[in-house]
Amino acid sequence: MRGKEPARRLEIRIANEFTSIGNVDSRFRTYQIYFHLRYSSLITVGRLGAFEFEGGDYVYTGSAVRNIAARVRRHLRKEKKLKWHIDYLLTNSDARIKKVLLSTLSECQLNKNTAGHIVIPGFGASDCKSHCVSHLKKL
Ligand SMILES: [Zn+2]
Repeated sequence: MRGKEPARRLEIRIANEFTSIGNVDSRFRTYQIYFHLRYSSLITVGRLGAFEFEGGDYVYTGSAVRNIAARVRRHLRKEKKLKWHIDYLLTNSDARIKKVLLSTLSECQLNKNTAGHIVIPGFGASDCKSHCVSHLKKL
């Protein structure tokens, strides 16, 4: 088959929290949320516990088998039932999402390709089988 190379990466800049994301290419199954925490804060991350998060930039890597756009839109909302570890950070009033990256790489591959260091072992990695230790990294 001829045609353009499939897109492997899509970057969405978040102008404000009302940004809507429409349907995207179904080959995108993984995403990264780049966000900034304005101040150091003690944040309880569900049953994982309470941690002091330094102010600064973070990246979270996740996946959605179906409807990645809906998943990303959920992450952009401040009001929601807290379900995943990342929800406890993104709903913090001092957390601001800067951009979202969509990818066709696997969640763990994408996470491993990303620079940054682990601050909370086990964060977002409950289902991880690739020894990432954490799917949240501080940049
Ligand atoms: Zn992993």
